[in-house]
Amino acid sequence: MAELDDLPLRDDLRGLSPYGAPQKHVRIPLNVNENSHGIPEPVARDVVTALAGAVLQANRYPDREFTALREGLADYLGHGLTRDNTWAANGSNEILQQVLQAFGGPGRSVLGFPPTYSMYPILARGTGTTWVAGKRDADYAITPETAVREIVATEPDLVFFCSPNNPTGTPLALDTIEAAYDAARGIVVVDEAYAEFAPPDTPSALTLLPGRERLIVSRTMSKAFAFAGVRLGYLAADPAVADALRLVRLPYHLSALTQAAAVAALGHADELLATVADIAAQRDRMLAELPRLGFPTRESWTNFVLFGGVADPAALFDALLERDILIRDVGIPNHLRVTAGTEVETSAFLAAMAELAAQ
Ligand SMILES: *Cc1c(COP(=O)(O)O)cnc(C)c1O
Repeated sequence: MAELDDLPLRDDLRGLSPYGAPQKHVRIPLNVNENSHGIPEPVARDVVTALAGAVLQANRYPDREFTALREGLADYLGHGLTRDNTWAANGSNEILQQVLQAFGGPGRSVLGFPPTYSMYPILARGTGTTWVAGKRDADYAITPETAVREIVATEPDLVFFCSPNNPTGTPLALDTIEAAYDAARGIVVVDEAYAEFAPPDTPSALTLLPGRERLIVSRTMSKAFAFAGVRLGYLAADPAVADALRLVRLPYHLSALTQAAAVAALGHADELLATVADIAAQRDRMLAELPRLGFPTRESWTNFVLFGGVADPAALFDALLERDILIRDVGIPNHLRVTAGTEVETSAFLAAMAELAAQ
């Protein structure tokens, strides 16, 4: 068998590592911020019925415009958005890739603010877009002044904000997004993958869309909707953004099965989102308990917690893995990240942490 280096790989991909959150079979997987709750059976039955209907017509290509799905997404988002304001793809990762294909690419750059979602630089590389790492303020905040300063200094073609931010969990105020939009010449993306876990009535960047045709708000069904395995991400923006993405998407990129499953699930949004309050409560338990064990935390508006005070992250990661608990080392010195699971999973994690802290 040949080595990767034996192949005529693109020069800019040589030496890179792929996205690689460990996929291990453990009893308590708290590493990739999935929803630990399964799909309620009545919802699953409805999804299966919709899938069966789609399979019976699978000899035909699917609706290239995924019209019913976009209508469902607009209904779910509200804010006066219509089908034309929405677009979907196989996970919000594909959404972000399409955005970079259309608005980034060779000779262009995207500004992000590490520590942030690890896929942003990987997607930038894959599309030939230069990744520019902006600086945050203390405690992972980004004030409007800081955002504007970084944009003026680096003149990016795109700006990626993650709000609330992965892997820190911290919120981002809308005035930072407004100021960044005014300072930027290009596209501003707000990745709201975790928006449903924010405190109730927190205003979304969706409220900023009117009159801002360069603003894109991306969302996903992978987290709060408990639909990670289906791969459905989406965005809201000016309808012209969808016109741009039509230039780069593959024809029929959303399979008939994906469309059918997602439309059926959106019809049960209330039932699927019923777990959000419990997950937030488990997150809050960890926010309260971890500092008592000597692991300081910051505010989290997501379904996970980043905790510090870890002398040896690799050793703690391994000690938890021995107890069949998988969490995530996100590369921040002395920190680890853990997803809020079910009450039982969270209790097991906290009990293991108490035991390990006492050693
Ligand atoms: C999990 C996550 C996503 C979701 O990706 P999908 O491709 O929709 O599964 C997007 N952005 C961030 C910041 C995430 O943490």
